[in-house]
Amino acid sequence: MALIFKGKTTCGLCGKLLAGKDIVGLPAIADVTHELYVYFDQGFHSRCFDNWDKKKEVMEVLEAEKKLFHQSSYYKVMFEKYGNPGP
Ligand SMILES: [Zn+2]
Repeated sequence: MALIFKGKTTCGLCGKLLAGKDIVGLPAIADVTHELYVYFDQGFHSRCFDNWDKKKEVMEVLEAEKKLFHQSSYYKVMFEKYGNPGP
């Protein structure tokens, strides 16, 4: 998950400082070649993120990465060893 320091980190969309409670963050993704890669592992104002025309697309990317991870041999080994880690 993105490291966000309130009052120091800037919004990945508008570039203004993140402060207050209405902040969302995107985790990093494995696909460094994805056209939206630079937006991952960052924080955003909730309003900026909600109004972003790429919001639906990044959420689909996250869902696809989650599926790939759950199909990975690493996940299967860890699942057998420790059980379901949650979402
Ligand atoms: Zn913003």
